[in-house]
Amino acid sequence: MSSGFCGKLPEQPATHSCQIGNVTLGGKSPVVVQAMTNTDTADAAATANQCAELHRAGSELVRITVNTPEAAAAVPKIRRQLDDLNCPVPLIGDFHYNGHRLLAEHPECAAALAKYRINPGNVGFGKKKDEQFAAMIELACRYEKPVRIGVNWGSLDPSVLARLMDENRRRHAPKANSEIMREAMLASALESAKQAESIGLPGKRVILSCKVSSAPDLIAIYRELAARSRYALHLGLTEAGMGSKGIVASTAALAVLLHQGIGDTIRVSLTPEPGASRTEEVIVAQEILQSLNLRAFTPQVVACPGCGRTTSTFFQELAQAVQTHLRARMPEWKTRYQGVERMNVAVMGCVVNGPGESKHANIGISLPGAGEAPSAPVFEDGEKTVTLKGETIVAEFLQIIENYVTRKYAKHVA
Ligand code: SF4
Repeated sequence: MSSGFCGKLPEQPATHSCQIGNVTLGGKSPVVVQAMTNTDTADAAATANQCAELHRAGSELVRITVNTPEAAAAVPKIRRQLDDLNCPVPLIGDFHYNGHRLLAEHPECAAALAKYRINPGNVGFGKKKDEQFAAMIELACRYEKPVRIGVNWGSLDPSVLARLMDENRRRHAPKANSEIMREAMLASALESAKQAESIGLPGKRVILSCKVSSAPDLIAIYRELAARSRYALHLGLTEAGMGSKGIVASTAALAVLLHQGIGDTIRVSLTPEPGASRTEEVIVAQEILQSLNLRAFTPQVVACPGCGRTTSTFFQELAQAVQTHLRARMPEWKTRYQGVERMNVAVMGCVVNGPGESKHANIGISLPGAGEAPSAPVFEDGEKTVTLKGETIVAEFLQIIENYVTRKYAKHVA
């Protein structure tokens, strides 16, 4: 049976730890999942509903854009609506261009948010840049809020890039432009963090991110960021894209870093398919963490891909029924059963790997492949307990899972 290590891997020194509402981020705390809404924040009801939906799906922090006076005015309403729904998820305000004004002119917004995200490339130009950045940091100090200094290569501070390009041109052997771009992102994040600290924001309330859309660049940048500072780090591949491309690119980048102990919170920036739920990004983020044994959120289904030995689509239907059942039951199970989120269920297509994989799982079923007797042995904790046959295999197997959960994880936690 797989138990797995859950927690952060020890390769990196601990980052600073800070409190964001009811969530502890950084230090030795588990990696936190966050998501972002795509509603118009000025529509308080729609935004509160989506925040609640994301939180129910597992997002532990939710970021909302705060881009207009109407959006800023809606933030305290969104907070109240979430509180009325008994949804404590901390809200992060995402600010660009006018954050200094919105936070100053909407003190209820400044108070209702649990964290501010500031993009140092979008706070103003020239002398105004420092003034407006300082104004936001001073407000964060006044309201005792953490700040994510979130650099994005699509909006990289042009003054930092120009300075590093100039320095590079004067070098005897200039570095490649791509290297200077990465350096500029690091410099923008680290210099802004230093500036924030000099204004009075404690370092433990600074979170850094440097997002790019290329997985190798992201890995290189965050390795440097982790080596050069102890600020808590927010990981995410920006503009990851849609569907399998977005999922694979995000996973490829984040998994390498997380496996090295880099990253305190993650967001998977998927573009939803038209009409699809925004919660997919939350499920992907959870699955990345669970696949790395860093967190456990929901029981896992181990299923073989099937091959010429599988005789029908029944095997795929059973795997899907089990997966759907586990996800549907988890909201209730997690209030009643401790550790059920670490359960593994194997659904296998034939005798080749079926019994072996099933014995490694908490519960496993090995369906009959081509030429095998039409029976499906079930294994619980490594022992064969029953053999299922006939039309009712799905219902019987789901009942076996229910019985196992009741028996095995019976300790009540609520
Ligand atoms: S367990 Fe059997 S059915 Fe599944 S992929 Fe392997 S050989 Fe094919």
